[in-house]
Amino acid sequence: MKINEILKHIEDWAPPGIAWDKDNPGIQVGSAEARARNVLICLDLTREIVKEAVLNKCNLIISHHPLIFNPIRKIQISDDPTSQLIELLIKNNITLYSAHTNLDFSKNGVSFQLAKTLGLKNISFLKALGEKLVKLVVFVPEDSVEKVSEALFSCGAGIIGEYTGCSFKTRGKGTFRPSESANPAIGKRGKFEEVNEIRLEVVANSWQVMGIVDAMRDAHPYEEPAYDIYPIRNPSTEFGFGAIGELEEGKSENEFLDLVCAKLNANGLKFSPSIGRQIRKVAVCGGSGSELLDQAIACGADAFLTADVRYHTYFDALGKILLIDGGHFETEVLVFPELKRYIQKFFKRDKISVKVLISKHLHSPVKVYNYSKRSK
Ligand SMILES: [Zn+2]
Repeated sequence: MKINEILKHIEDWAPPGIAWDKDNPGIQVGSAEARARNVLICLDLTREIVKEAVLNKCNLIISHHPLIFNPIRKIQISDDPTSQLIELLIKNNITLYSAHTNLDFSKNGVSFQLAKTLGLKNISFLKALGEKLVKLVVFVPEDSVEKVSEALFSCGAGIIGEYTGCSFKTRGKGTFRPSESANPAIGKRGKFEEVNEIRLEVVANSWQVMGIVDAMRDAHPYEEPAYDIYPIRNPSTEFGFGAIGELEEGKSENEFLDLVCAKLNANGLKFSPSIGRQIRKVAVCGGSGSELLDQAIACGADAFLTADVRYHTYFDALGKILLIDGGHFETEVLVFPELKRYIQKFFKRDKISVKVLISKHLHSPVKVYNYSKRSK
């Protein structure tokens, strides 16, 4: 299996088109054309992890955080760690790929795995992703509607939640006059035509729409199909921010903090003062998710677990919700077993003996000093 086939599977789950505008998911270094040997998964790339890849014959590393986040102006190997890592990857023929906020915003991605780890039930997105959908409208002569519809659906148009093949059709009259250079499928050059047409409309993901238009053009009988693409503000049913669910049984605040600490394997947690009620409904967002605090409160969550929480944000939570900072590293690494399982599924299906490894060198760069354990 070529590396780009693995990447295609990952992007079916976590399309780069849904990523945050300022993010840089996708190939960071290397080529996707090589045949995949073994695959190594990590959070951040380090020299240690490149060595681990070489040792385990991995020529694809998948990091959650992109190595190249801000544009690089020069590759200066003498004193720049990022440049040194780029050199090391190229020298060892290793491709580095990142699935970052696109993996955060996908079902069963970072936040869903965090929610599952806490044992939450009825998990859904905390907030739907907006402004990533478009409406594609195409005008089709009546006898070609089925063929054009199929072309649209086969490229991913017309999906609404659990329903595929969603479209709407309205009858009408299309008019046109072909020029002397045109090759009209219906009518004659220079002659005004009026044809019974169907206005066929479907929703589509914005990052897929140009591929869908290409397929529509192939299936459409006209030399110049008339079509419109409108941005729409509907929330996505497939992608979103954070996750929310319920504990099977309500817990006291201390019991819940114990659970979080144990499940995250955390040395300590920062949290807001007591809200004086049981914790049952829980919102989570792996990594820096403080901006979802208002949404978590509005959804009636008793607790909100995220990371990188700033001092003033704890005031916003006071008396309303138990706000917990579980650590950036700790709330994100939980997605790796799912990523491993997901990629392995394709190798098993195709009977390919490629190993998918989670790095043994996953370490948070943040340490917690624990006074009571100082002598242990
Ligand atoms: Zn992160």
